[in-house]
Amino acid sequence: MFDALRRYRDRRVLRRAALPDELWRDACAALPFLGGYDAQELARLRDLVVLFLDAKSIVGARGHDVTPLQRTIIAIQACVLVLNLDLVLFDGFENVIIYPGEFVPGWEYEDEAGVVHRHDGPLAGEAMHGGPVILSWPDVAASADWDASQMNLVIHEFAHKIDMRDGDANGCPPLPDAEARREWQRVMREAYADFSARVDAGEETAIDPYAAENPGEFFAVLSEVFFADPWLLRDEYPAVYGEFARFYRQDPARRTESR
Ligand SMILES: [Zn+2]
Repeated sequence: MFDALRRYRDRRVLRRAALPDELWRDACAALPFLGGYDAQELARLRDLVVLFLDAKSIVGARGHDVTPLQRTIIAIQACVLVLNLDLVLFDGFENVIIYPGEFVPGWEYEDEAGVVHRHDGPLAGEAMHGGPVILSWPDVAASADWDASQMNLVIHEFAHKIDMRDGDANGCPPLPDAEARREWQRVMREAYADFSARVDAGEETAIDPYAAENPGEFFAVLSEVFFADPWLLRDEYPAVYGEFARFYRQDPARRTESR
């Protein structure tokens, strides 16, 4: 019943709201990694973007005006994650807030010893549990070109959102059953231990060492690599690549040539 209602609503939104061709073309052109997507995938992505923009408010704050192009560029990258999944994974929050630069979050957290810390240092992005996704526009703009920046801020923060669907951002997204969860955890634990050891040993890794921060960041950073530089993940952690391909139901390496 709920599904039928949702499909009905989606069809109505898609009939009513459209994305101008020129805006769609310009936004795709700003995201080189879309080059490998076939026409069918792009058409599906475009529908998802229309639905995403209908459901979410992407608003500027602290003096930042969000242009239609910026809004579309952000929506596309968020929807790439759920191209073969469901926008339901982004339910539970409405706002994406765009700042004109990095920001210092106001929250505090308590460690295991009961000591309260404030986050120090500015952030480029943040995905709040049950709350908005916050992005610094200059960092979104920079990360459209993976080769130059080696990061994709939008994919990173929305991967956290997917991870949080079933609780904390612990690096384990909602999986179909207990066996899938066990296998996921085994593969991720092994890869995380290996990567952390490499970072601790001072190795210069091709994958951002920030991934060694905790299992949640490992999942978010590796999701960026999976979509924007799939061969890197396939070469470095083939088992993780396999788990991600199964979870996201995509094989991005197939879209691009081996490097
Ligand atoms: Zn993160």
